[in-house]
Amino acid sequence: MTATLLDGKQMADKIRTELTAEVTAFVAGSGVRPALAAVLVGDFAPSEVYVRNKEKACQRVGISSQVHRLGGETSEAELLRLVDQLNQDREIHGILVQLPLPGHIRESRVLDAIDPLKDVDAFHPENVGLIAQGRPRYLPCTPHGVSQLLHRSGITTRGKHAVIVGRSDIVGKPMALMLMNRNSTLGPEGANATVTVCHTQTPDLADVTRRADLLIAAIGRPKFITASMVRPGAVVVDVGINRTEAGLVGDVDFEAVKELASFITPVPGGVGPLTVTMLLHNTLEAAKRQTATGNG
Ligand code: NAP
Repeated sequence: MTATLLDGKQMADKIRTELTAEVTAFVAGSGVRPALAAVLVGDFAPSEVYVRNKEKACQRVGISSQVHRLGGETSEAELLRLVDQLNQDREIHGILVQLPLPGHIRESRVLDAIDPLKDVDAFHPENVGLIAQGRPRYLPCTPHGVSQLLHRSGITTRGKHAVIVGRSDIVGKPMALMLMNRNSTLGPEGANATVTVCHTQTPDLADVTRRADLLIAAIGRPKFITASMVRPGAVVVDVGINRTEAGLVGDVDFEAVKELASFITPVPGGVGPLTVTMLLHNTLEAAKRQTATGNG
């Protein structure tokens, strides 16, 4: 069997076209233009690329954006002051602090300081708690992108065995919560999975991954998931983005695994474009919420 490709780029383009219309309608109805503030500390090159891409993506759908670039020597207190200023700014609806931060700044202190209503990454404990309780305010961008990709490709998760390799706060853990919940923003067919989460301490990893109907790799190791770790007919979602001498590579050995999976995401052009798109979705959602409550 040769897998059907889950084309994230094409799907992201479609969702961005929908978002452009939604932003236009929101601006026309409210007189408020959704606005995102990104904060970049230091000169980590990949972060600079990510922030630039997010800025461009905002512009394309009619969301206004600003980038605050701070030097690598910025203190935690200075960064917290900027976050506070953005929290108070009624013309800003979403705040994104690009990770990783320099080592002398505690990420949790900074992420906890963001107003939960403006937390478009959905990293604040209040927003994570709401997801855990099955009543999300915002969904984190990468897991939300995966859910959209599956849903819009006609792949349901209800009753399926989802195996997630990786338990990070950004991808693996929220993905597990979303899939195990009774419902999703896309309906019960996009939730209700039986979920297994694997990590470095999981014994016999291949034995677990081979039992997956839906295998999600969020590991950060090039081509880690080999064909022998995948059940024939499984849906395989590769979240990994690894920079190698051969270019960008996912966590899945794409060439071998595509021969036995039923569906598979490529890297690049899979989950990545959807992540940025879901950030735009959350910024519009944040503007709607803050406008509805009179805070925007
Ligand atoms: P992370 O915080 O480094 O977490 C990696 C997870 O993988 C950890 O839970 C780790 O287990 C597990 N792991 C590592 N090696 C393993 C092994 N040999 N066997 C089993 N589990 C192993 O990474 P992340 O932020 O979740 O990102 C994962 C990948 O996704 C990276 O390549 C990243 O660049 C990519 N990413 C892509 C997007 C996108 O938009 N497509 C967004 C975010 C991240 P332990 O917890 O035991 O250490």
